[in-house]
Amino acid sequence: MTKPSADVLIIGAGLSGLAVATFLKHKQPDISLLVLEQDDHPGGAIHSHLEEGYLAEGGAHGFFDNCLESRVLVHEAGLDQDVEKAPLAEFVRYICLESRLQCIPQQPGKILKAPLLPLSAKLRVLADLWKKPLPDSPSVAKWVEHRFGKAVLPFADAVFTGTYAGDIERLQIEAVMPSMYALEQQHGSVIRGLIKKRRSNKEKTKGLPAMTSFSSGMERLPQAMAAGLTLNREIMYRTAAKTLTRTESGWLVRTGQLELSCNHLVIALPVNSCLPLVTEIAHRTPPLNHIPEARLATVALGFSKNAEIPPGFGYLAPEQEQRFTLGALFSSQMFPGRAPQGHVLLEALVGGRRHPQRLERSDDELTDRVYQDIKQLINLPDPPVFGRVLRPKHGIPQLEQGYPALLKWRTELQDSYSNLHLCGFGWQGIGINDMHKEAWKMAKRILIDAQQEEDSQEVKGVYF
Ligand SMILES: Cc1cc2nc3c(=O)[nH]c(=O)nc-3n(C[C@H](O)[C@H](O)[C@H](O)COP(=O)(O)OP(=O)(O)OC[C@H]3O[C@@H](n4cnc5c(N)ncnc54)[C@H](O)[C@@H]3O)c2cc1C
Repeated sequence: MTKPSADVLIIGAGLSGLAVATFLKHKQPDISLLVLEQDDHPGGAIHSHLEEGYLAEGGAHGFFDNCLESRVLVHEAGLDQDVEKAPLAEFVRYICLESRLQCIPQQPGKILKAPLLPLSAKLRVLADLWKKPLPDSPSVAKWVEHRFGKAVLPFADAVFTGTYAGDIERLQIEAVMPSMYALEQQHGSVIRGLIKKRRSNKEKTKGLPAMTSFSSGMERLPQAMAAGLTLNREIMYRTAAKTLTRTESGWLVRTGQLELSCNHLVIALPVNSCLPLVTEIAHRTPPLNHIPEARLATVALGFSKNAEIPPGFGYLAPEQEQRFTLGALFSSQMFPGRAPQGHVLLEALVGGRRHPQRLERSDDELTDRVYQDIKQLINLPDPPVFGRVLRPKHGIPQLEQGYPALLKWRTELQDSYSNLHLCGFGWQGIGINDMHKEAWKMAKRILIDAQQEEDSQEVKGVYF
């Protein structure tokens, strides 16, 4: 029998893989684990870019602080003092409607009172109370229109442009908003379901969350989590997992040069990187062998203080507005250290599921198109003094037709092997908090399994 290279082997040192490793070490400091990363650095889709005093993000800009798993990870990574927060209660958001930025009130009651929708459209929202659920698994657009009326579509579009850079005609409601979809299925109406949930929820709602990042950008989080692992013993870079084989007691992972054995195998990869690796070991062919991705570019623009950037978080433009830019973050309003003294930073997003061809333009062209576009919405008297186009190599997984069946396939696969764990970008969501929640679930599966083995030998316990 080959001796295990590690009890737990984790493929991928993005936030998901590092989060699994951090949780495991937190609960069991002497655990034997090894993380494999094909790149020469940790972080995957996270990429912070500092240049001439401007700090921009090529990937995620932050995460909300209402997720316990994320808060635990920040603490375990020793970053409590590095956290920067922009509370949503103070940082309003805007939607571009009829070529104007309109403020979206932060509380549901105020949204209903705001003049964003005519009275007839507000009354139509209430039709949700008696609309029967649509058969099959509808797209977000079909579902929202059916339940709440056509007038609500631009708002739904803005939400899913801001999260998935996606197309609401193609994203599946069951996949992207499983809790809302479940309310409809259980109570026959989302509004009724929300009211019942609120009544039965004894815990008081804690108000609006805050957007969270770090003083040197989002990259700080994966860097700090990776720093907690010993180089070449607990984390190896430039080491890509190529094939997986089942052994008598666990798994054998082959890289270019190495054969590594383990008891528990965690595959913490985006769906499209995971599928080619696991298809060989699955009992059933996956219903999809690839899911679509939305690619984005971030265009970071620096202006002098003459730029009249509204107070707030940023804006999003629904497709019906036919704008070049999907939206922009008012980065230095939220996090003032992100631009040099006397300057401001805007980060605009271009491309997405609907407009991938826009990314074929040169950096100069993109910068100019974005500037011309945003100038029509915000008073920018002077041209930008700084411009940088960041082109992430990672796309955002799109949870479209066939995705619920793929998720079911993953569950079946995990059920058939108690020592195989699949998480990562696009499995059960796409946001950082989703990744951290899934990572915790995977860590828990491993610890419970280990606990059962230990129980039979009556060794020390693991407490949750
Ligand atoms: C442009 C963009 C903007 C985003 N904005 C936000 C945001 O504002 N807020 C938010 O919450 N989320 C955002 N996200 C999502 C967030 O970045 C992801 O949820 C998260 O980073 C995914 O982490 P992961 O570890 O699952 O995957 P990844 O980050 O993709 O990490 C996977 C890692 O595995 C490695 N790898 C791949 N194959 C192998 C192999 N065979 N062997 C070894 N290593 C391998 C890769 O090199 C990579 O390092 C954004 C994503 C993108 C792309």
